[in-house]
Amino acid sequence: MPADARTLLTTIFGYPAFRGQQAEVIEHVAAGGDALVLMPTGSGKSLCYQIPALMRPGVCVVVSPLIALMHDQVAALNELGVRAAYLNSTLSAAEAAAVERQVRAGELDLVYVAPERLLTDRCLQLLESSKLALFAIDEAHCVSQWGHDFRAEYLQLSVLHERFPSIPRIALTATADRQTRAEIIDKLQLGKARVFTASVDRPNIRYRVVEKLNARKQLLDFIRAEHSGESGIVYCLSRKKTEETAAFLEEHGITALPYHAGMSAAARTRAQQRFQREDGVVVVATIAFGMGIDKPDVRFVAHLDLPKSIEGYYQETGRAGRDGLPANAWMTYGLQDVVQLRQMIDGSEADEAYKKVQVTKLDAMLGFCETSDCRRMRLLAYFGESGSPCGNCDTCLTPPVTVDGTIPMQQLLSCVYRVGQRFGAMHVIDVLTGHDTEKVLHWRHHDLSTFGIGKDRSAHEWRAIIRQAIALGLIVVDHANYSALKLTAAARPVLKGEQRVPLREYRKAEKVKKTKPTSTFVADLPAEAIPIFERLREWRRATAAEHGVPAYVIFHDATLHEIARIRPGTLAELGRISGVGAKKLEAYGAEIVGMVG
Ligand code: ADP
Ligand code: ZN
Repeated sequence: MPADARTLLTTIFGYPAFRGQQAEVIEHVAAGGDALVLMPTGSGKSLCYQIPALMRPGVCVVVSPLIALMHDQVAALNELGVRAAYLNSTLSAAEAAAVERQVRAGELDLVYVAPERLLTDRCLQLLESSKLALFAIDEAHCVSQWGHDFRAEYLQLSVLHERFPSIPRIALTATADRQTRAEIIDKLQLGKARVFTASVDRPNIRYRVVEKLNARKQLLDFIRAEHSGESGIVYCLSRKKTEETAAFLEEHGITALPYHAGMSAAARTRAQQRFQREDGVVVVATIAFGMGIDKPDVRFVAHLDLPKSIEGYYQETGRAGRDGLPANAWMTYGLQDVVQLRQMIDGSEADEAYKKVQVTKLDAMLGFCETSDCRRMRLLAYFGESGSPCGNCDTCLTPPVTVDGTIPMQQLLSCVYRVGQRFGAMHVIDVLTGHDTEKVLHWRHHDLSTFGIGKDRSAHEWRAIIRQAIALGLIVVDHANYSALKLTAAARPVLKGEQRVPLREYRKAEKVKKTKPTSTFVADLPAEAIPIFERLREWRRATAAEHGVPAYVIFHDATLHEIARIRPGTLAELGRISGVGAKKLEAYGAEIVGMVG
């Protein structure tokens, strides 16, 4: 008997209202229409097929490349009382046969299948002899040959349309650029599908960029001040650095695991599982730690090195705060990052056209770091969206002061010129600040007119000015020549005094750090609710371990937060809290009311 979507939302999932376009997508798909859903991470795409799966007779076949996650996804549905199972290579033959029997007998609402499995004759025959409700193709951007998650099997998923033309299909992804979208429609034959798109904005994520001084120490301070006991991901460029950083955090009492492509598959799976299942684990990773991080309560993503592109950065930071609660995207960045990344691009084997694209992407990233405007607006603009200042990024919260920087910029440019455009940032700064190092003396640069003209500013300050000069395109770093700083044509009018240069006033990192730190939601609780919240978390940890599922499968942080705040005294009161559905109320309700009431 088809149940009404809203009733399912409240009784099964325990949520009071649909978000964004969920209701429209669900209505469209439940009525038998095809859909392409392009919505950011955390926007609640899963419900867009899970609810139609419950509304339509037959089983919903969910195609997903994320084998490692199927177990948890199915466990989460089972916790809600939904009949779900999965078919992938981790099952024994007997286990798989049991699931197949359930599918055929119409005993499941959803079955998750790995694409390579789905395409086997055996599986297609199984589907032909079963009643099907719909197909959901998750991570649909995997059809894109130009994307980084390309999966060859996805190209063959058009077979679904050919063999089952009357069964509705819904394809979902968070990667929404125009090209990927066109490829999905083409490859999956979704020409008739209704397309649902949402802004890529993630308003609950607070973007911050701080000057890199002692990155590890800064990271430790950041975690201690704002994320003690919470889950997070730290991205670094090198494998070695992930290991060193994880060890450093461990030494300081933070549970941290390295993750990179050089580790064995078993070690990587172990790290991913611990992260997924335990509370408060920090993973220090290279970008290899990516797709398939499906944890809703990642409270921060930190970058210790500058990412190579805004696409990459946005995807990585997007792993924070899927549950919609406040989360931080925090990055340390310095001049050395720019130099290093340029070096990696220039030194690579790739052809010139490719390198040029990489340099353009890096420049956009640099522009984001150096901006005095709202960071979110910068990010959204990159993806073709416009907006107004967000009030939830560092430049909105503590607007940088812009001053006339024409004089220091002229000093810098002329110093670069006087040393013959043959020296790197460090040497240029030594000359500017009047340090008679061996190198300065050797090249007789203490005789230059620019020697010491900038000694009223610290080396840090000069580095900040150089970064801005690079971001403004006045200077380039030449890797063919020992990272020498060179002037561009744009430097000329500045040197000649024909063009003024606004610069961000230099602010010591310390000062930035003290600006209104805690957005963490634990801090939002009234003081007396904090110990209750901690007790609930401890209970959740034990219960999750007992059931062999991740903690968030039992209850999300947001739900525990509400319970701690409201302290429901009755089952009825508890049942009104978002995230408490009928099945969970029955399973855990009495215990929780006993703990908090
Ligand atoms: P996506 O797949 O788009 O990244 P998910 O489907 O994993 O997002 O949903 C993100 C989180 O939001 C999940 O924890 C989910 O339970 C929750 N959620 C989804 N829809 C709602 C809703 N209508 N109300 C409250 N929470 C929701
Ligand atoms: Zn902003």
